[in-house]
Amino acid sequence: MPLYLFVNNRSWVVERKREAADDMRSGRSGEPKLFLFFTAPDGEVRRSDIAEDFPEMPRARLLESVWRYAEIMRAGDPGEMTSRGEIVMPRARDVARDFSRAVLLRCPNCGGRKILKNWFTLKPRCPRCGIRLDRGEADDYFLGGMFFNIVLAEILFAIVLLVVVITMWPNVPWDGVEYSLIIAMVAAPIVLYPVSRLMWLALDLLLRPPDDAEMEWHTAAGKD
Ligand SMILES: [Zn+2]
Repeated sequence: MPLYLFVNNRSWVVERKREAADDMRSGRSGEPKLFLFFTAPDGEVRRSDIAEDFPEMPRARLLESVWRYAEIMRAGDPGEMTSRGEIVMPRARDVARDFSRAVLLRCPNCGGRKILKNWFTLKPRCPRCGIRLDRGEADDYFLGGMFFNIVLAEILFAIVLLVVVITMWPNVPWDGVEYSLIIAMVAAPIVLYPVSRLMWLALDLLLRPPDDAEMEWHTAAGKD
């Protein structure tokens, strides 16, 4: 049964299928393996291994959490989340802490500062706790960051519009409002770029807290 994942206002069909492996790198060709198939609205299909096959790979673990996230998104079936076990329901206090760290451009994992190389680039790792700020997952993290970027921009859009209309009513300068909002909507994705990416990391860390083994992997592997 296909599930749906909404990214960047587009709905991807996500399916989990077992297929004969044809990946020579794994050295296990011929064995059936689990894959996630992501089908975009335009028909583009991407296929990815998931965690059962490569539990040691952060990429595989992220894909598994994407699969679980897609299940959570399925309307009317919230029970799936707990039945699958490993995903954790974060406490409100942790959510507030991690997201406020993201908004302040600090590491969501430890609160460490100076994690931006420049406005559009996070440092590979947090200088304080060592966690990889893309969690070893550059491609998929881009999609998640885009999701937050759009949500944040739309929330800000609604708040600003509401404040302007309420404070200036009934003499709202509609032309000025329109032009400023257009400029703001163009600027918002740029202004919010690092915050969006860090919020995505915060969400991922909340739903899938790093264990000791993962932190060891982040801090032990060579410099990058
Ligand atoms: Zn950190």
